[in-house]
Amino acid sequence: LLDDNRLDILLEERLPEKILHLFHNIGQLADEANVKVYVVGGFVRDLLLGVENLDIDLVVEGDGIAFSTRLARFLRARLRVHEKFGTAMLVWDDQKIDVATARREFYQHPAALPQVEASNLRQDLYRRDFTINALAIQLNLPAFGYLVDFFSGRRDLEQGLIRVLYNLSFVEDPTRIIRAIRFEQRYGFMMEAETLEFAHEAISRKMIGEVSFERMFDELLLILQEKNPVPALCRVTEFGIWEFFLPDLQWSDGLESELANVTTLQHLLKEQQWWDSKSQWISYFLVLTKHLKPDGIEVALQRYPLKLWIREAIVTISEEGFRVAQELDKWLKGGKNSELDEILQGWSVEAFLSLRATYPVQETILLLEAWQAIRKTSISITGNDIKALGIKPGPIYGEIMNRLRVERLDGTVQSSEEERQRLREILIELGYGSKD
Ligand code: ATP
Repeated sequence: LLDDNRLDILLEERLPEKILHLFHNIGQLADEANVKVYVVGGFVRDLLLGVENLDIDLVVEGDGIAFSTRLARFLRARLRVHEKFGTAMLVWDDQKIDVATARREFYQHPAALPQVEASNLRQDLYRRDFTINALAIQLNLPAFGYLVDFFSGRRDLEQGLIRVLYNLSFVEDPTRIIRAIRFEQRYGFMMEAETLEFAHEAISRKMIGEVSFERMFDELLLILQEKNPVPALCRVTEFGIWEFFLPDLQWSDGLESELANVTTLQHLLKEQQWWDSKSQWISYFLVLTKHLKPDGIEVALQRYPLKLWIREAIVTISEEGFRVAQELDKWLKGGKNSELDEILQGWSVEAFLSLRATYPVQETILLLEAWQAIRKTSISITGNDIKALGIKPGPIYGEIMNRLRVERLDGTVQSSEEERQRLREILIELGYGSKD
């Protein structure tokens, strides 16, 4: 890290040309509008750490909404404004830019959502979670690249420390304890001694129990979306706060190694581009719920705002997981493609991964490859082809198509011509006679 507070050279070195150019434009617009504009938070933290992060959060000292409108016009970007919070979001190409009016927050009572009022940059940064997230870089051209560090966040970054900004931070917002754990594990940092004490104190005062399930769920998702969530999950158990996520979950070495297996599998899938990382959390979550008894599952389903298919997956894994896992084992010893298709009918890749988390990775990859190929297989015969042969539409169509698909999957039929030939044969077998 550099010693002085001018970071313009660092910005030039580490940012893509497009972003650097964007920042210069923002600086110029800010000068014209006579407001001060800063890029803040995770972006600055990661810039100093040399970690890629292109989530741009701007804070405006002045009217943030007026500025975001001006910026959107200049960039021809899409703009969404939240008048009530003094914030706006721009989407420019595929780049998201969040703009906020510098603000101060009041908590009406501990663990409540904050009330907002316009204020200056220092107060805006002071309401944040940790010193390492309370850094800002000014973008106005005369001061372009100037680091604003009111709370010695840069020193803490250099020393690898997570430090709260004030003593009651965890009492005001206990989810910050979980955020602290996440950042600690992500960067290999430690909570600074006093911060650690505050965390233990807030935990022993049962502050986390005051947080809504929705917010707890958001925090859990953020952990499960980390590159490797397992260390943070272990740390959560060390702090004794698992019960606030899934009360009936028994942490064990077995569970830990299943989660680690999911990490390995997902990593391999990402390399194959078979995997959308936005849904990474789902497989981990399904591994966790797989270890719950029915009562625990009931609690999870009641508490958390899960999509229907995920709810269904949780129940299916609990009720049928064991049988399906055994069938997959058997299939690996020499099954037909159509049998695998049948076994995994209705399963998602996410649920499949959580089911296979107890097994060796290599076999699972083998299964996945076979399954992916099956999913891509389709037959060329359509209902119209059957109709053209004079068969009255009805359930028989589905039956015929299904038989053809099975044969195609198992390789006894290998081309469109062979499908047509087989179609005629099947119709004769079914007693429809030849229409040739
Ligand atoms: P990540 O790299 O995980 O996205 P981030 O620091 O960008 O990390 P966000 O969750 O996007 O995190 O939050 C943006 C900023 O808002 C943070 O840098 C932090 O300063 C602030 N923030 C987020 N959550 C809280 C909170 N619970 N209390 C105080 N400040 C918070």
